[in-house]
Amino acid sequence: MRIIGIAREALEFILGVSRSTAPNEFAGLLQETDGVITDIMILPGTESSNRNAVIKLFMMPNIKSVGSVHSHPTSNVTPSKADIRLFGKTGSHHIIVGAPYDKNSWKCYNSDGNVQNLPVLDIELDDVEIL
Ligand code: ZN
Repeated sequence: MRIIGIAREALEFILGVSRSTAPNEFAGLLQETDGVITDIMILPGTESSNRNAVIKLFMMPNIKSVGSVHSHPTSNVTPSKADIRLFGKTGSHHIIVGAPYDKNSWKCYNSDGNVQNLPVLDIELDDVEIL
């Protein structure tokens, strides 16, 4: 499945969760509808953990996802070595969000950890499903 972008509502949801869990990290898996990232599956327990978000993603059973999302407690959104290992296992699109968690404080990477463009799309969603 070729990913053409992320729904604005889904991105706003990610930024909101990142903001409310900071300084703790949160992590989740991205799911798509017709090539657009529309859903985020938040991993249980990640809100209360610190610096363990990526480790928790490793422990997830095989769930169909197009990529991952996690937050960093600082404005540095460069993937760590652990992040890049994770990227290789969970799909093709990986979002890292950093402080202050606004529309300019995130980047999308491919599974090798290189920045890739992810257009934000204004599409109508019934709701952003929180699984
Ligand atoms: Zn990270």
